[in-house]
Amino acid sequence: MRSVFVSLSPARGWDGDDIVELDGDRANVAIVVGAKATGIIELLDLVPAPPPDATKCSKCSGTRWAVIHPGIAQEFPCAACGARGWTKPA
Ligand SMILES: [Zn+2]
Repeated sequence: MRSVFVSLSPARGWDGDDIVELDGDRANVAIVVGAKATGIIELLDLVPAPPPDATKCSKCSGTRWAVIHPGIAQEFPCAACGARGWTKPA
């Protein structure tokens, strides 16, 4: 199982919280949020690459960020693709 430990400084997470261990989509979200918060876009290389049969996420258009309601500028990590930017065929 792939796990991500969210930390920017010893014993602290992105928001100053205690370090937590995440896996799966929650790990992807932590990576995407961390990349945006720090500007370290290389973190996005840790998000799993799409398999050959993957398609760009229709909710976020592959950006990994989605708006809850059109017209509201606030973005959230895309729940439709688990912040990967791609989805697998059903
Ligand atoms: Zn998406």
